Amino acid sequence: MGWSSPQLLGFPTRRRPRSVARKYSLFTGILLAYVVFIYLGYDYWSDHFNPAKATAFCAAVVLIAGAVAKFTNRVLTQPLANLQEGITAVGDGRLDPIRVSRTADEFEFLGDSFNSMIEALAKSRDQIRQQHDSLEERIQERTAELEEASRKALLASKAKSEFLANMSHELRTPLTGVLGMIDVVLDSRLDADQAGQLRTARECALALLGLLNDILDLSKIEAGRMELEEIPVDLRAIVRECIEAVKPKAENKGLRMQTTVAPGLPARIAGDPMRLRQILTNLVSNAVKFTNEGFVEVRLRVDRQESGMSLTAEVLDTGTGIPADKLQSIFDEFTQADGSISRRYGGTGLGLAITRRLVKMHGGEISVSSEVGRGSTFRVTMPVKPIAEPPAPVTTPDAEERADGRETILVVEDNPVNQKVVTAILKKHGYGVVCANHGGEVIDRLEQNRVGLVLMDIQMPGVDGLEATRLIRAHHRWKNLPVVAITAHAMNGDRDMFLRNGMDGYLSKPINRPQLMAEVERCLLLSDHRQSETTVH
Ligand code: ADP
Repeated sequence: MGWSSPQLLGFPTRRRPRSVARKYSLFTGILLAYVVFIYLGYDYWSDHFNPAKATAFCAAVVLIAGAVAKFTNRVLTQPLANLQEGITAVGDGRLDPIRVSRTADEFEFLGDSFNSMIEALAKSRDQIRQQHDSLEERIQERTAELEEASRKALLASKAKSEFLANMSHELRTPLTGVLGMIDVVLDSRLDADQAGQLRTARECALALLGLLNDILDLSKIEAGRMELEEIPVDLRAIVRECIEAVKPKAENKGLRMQTTVAPGLPARIAGDPMRLRQILTNLVSNAVKFTNEGFVEVRLRVDRQESGMSLTAEVLDTGTGIPADKLQSIFDEFTQADGSISRRYGGTGLGLAITRRLVKMHGGEISVSSEVGRGSTFRVTMPVKPIAEPPAPVTTPDAEERADGRETILVVEDNPVNQKVVTAILKKHGYGVVCANHGGEVIDRLEQNRVGLVLMDIQMPGVDGLEATRLIRAHHRWKNLPVVAITAHAMNGDRDMFLRNGMDGYLSKPINRPQLMAEVERCLLLSDHRQSETTVH
């Protein structure tokens, strides 16, 4: 803390003072000169002037003046000068005791009081300095403690998210097994009761899977483990799929489903199809869930701006609507506009929280406008990149014949439940299936069977999927044999990595029947095409 500026302490800017002692001496001198003048003048004008007497008188006056000056200096000039010096020193920030003239009068009292004041000031300055230093130390300690606490909280939150992600992943695998098996049994001959019971079991398993998927997504986003893919996406197809998914429910409620695509929407954009589908599905299924009559409409349009292309997707409904004071909170986790809703309509309050985070990850915004009793409109805007038109698809005449059951597919998978589910689905579609429990069995199986396609799990103990694919490609015979990777982790960049490693396709778990069959058929067509090219050249 600085004490040096006189202005800061409230001292006026200093002007050099006129000395009181000098004024007093001048006054005494004039008075004595006046006395001498009167006394000698009187003698002179009355003709009594005596030079010897005048000289003695003047000498006496000078002596008296000297004595007065000395006295004045001792009791007035010196004490005042000491005080002045002290005040100036304090004004300059020096808090040392001043010199005090021991005159036993008001000046001595003033000087001592001044010194007491300086002592008190110096003491409080030292105290303030100490407090300042200890305050700084305490601030540093507290800051370090807070940093440590926030680091620990972040670690704990990340660990929690990772635990949730792992746990829901572990739960998902057996559950998809249950679902796969229910599907297989449902396709067999059952009486009406059994089919109904199985369908109920399927609904329950699907609801559980939906919840697990939501928790997994949320914890993946929170743990920073969710990355977006950038591959060609057909937006129109995504809207069609979303509408298809909710169609049975909408038809049950007698709702009309409408789609309006503004002209100029590119055929394909670069993006993450799974996440875009998820955003739209959440909004469309909410719209159907909260609408009892009227319609649900999906509108798509793009706006071309200087900064690039922006996509706007709107989902409108004529449903219950949302009260104005709930419009913001519905985007928070586990929040529903009305507590009774979860009992009436089901749901966990996670859908919109995930949707908003996914939209944010795409660099976009989501908003809602709604009127209770009239309906709601959810609007998503996000930047998108259009891409060039796709090449014409390759078709071969015998593609249809292939699905007749003449092809054998090799399933390489260490998990027996997954192995059984994939086998059952393929068999239902008329394919022959052989299984290998790990990568080390692959070459044996290929040698013993006429295999047309390999479904290769990537994470396996011992020889993993990538290594097994390398072994296959090392043989001239199986150079063109299609290999489809199956991986538990739908990670960004996986697809490219698998293609670079000699694979032809990619599927992420949990295996879903339409996607599995689409990929199998696409890769079989690809292999036919390669073979016909090899024959021509
Ligand atoms: P959930 O539907 O699982 O409860 P969401 O996060 O998807 O969770 O939605 C949160 C809440 O927002 C819902 O419970 C509902 O109150 C409200 N909401 C969402 N979409 C609509 C809609 N289209 N119409 C009316 N209310 C809606």
